[in-house]
Amino acid sequence: MSYSKEERIQRHRDADRRWKEKDPEHARLLGLQRAARAYQKDPEKFRQRSAKFRKEYPEKVKKTLSNWEHEHKEERLRYKAEYRRTHKKTITLYREKNPDKFKVFKQNRRAREVQAIGSFTAKQWRDLCDRYNNKCLGCGKKRKLTADHVVPLSKGGTNRISNIQPLCGSCNSKKGTKTTDFRKAHNVKPNHK
Ligand SMILES: [Zn+2]
Repeated sequence: MSYSKEERIQRHRDADRRWKEKDPEHARLLGLQRAARAYQKDPEKFRQRSAKFRKEYPEKVKKTLSNWEHEHKEERLRYKAEYRRTHKKTITLYREKNPDKFKVFKQNRRAREVQAIGSFTAKQWRDLCDRYNNKCLGCGKKRKLTADHVVPLSKGGTNRISNIQPLCGSCNSKKGTKTTDFRKAHNVKPNHK
């Protein structure tokens, strides 16, 4: 029996897939070794190809990454703790340079801790404040703003930007765990993203 070139390629691919399905761990290891060799041979070419792959298959990359993060949870926590310990200065500098990002990061982390749904970016937060002229929605004053959860996380509110309103510190603590939507009085459509 003879096969055309296309058929041969296809048969080869099928066999390859079957083998990988049978022994995924071994296949993964060989893949890693192949990648390491390619990197050693030509680091620049490897970087370019990786960048191209990330651009073409963002979903695949995301999935692989989150699998990896899940599998290496303990190591990652240890590594992060070690990094925090040895890079105190870098971290402090970064926080000082990016106060918004850091605030939002802390907020998202807290939301993850209470297993709330969603997260928002520093840019979404800035845009939201801009939309209300950087004033507190409670007292209308131009004060330092905090991201208040309209429906508190403790009452099952989400951590999406659609559940966030800018309040000053004192209005925020006055509101406490009540569900008060100050945005309604301001005639600006909330951002449902
Ligand atoms: Zn206020």
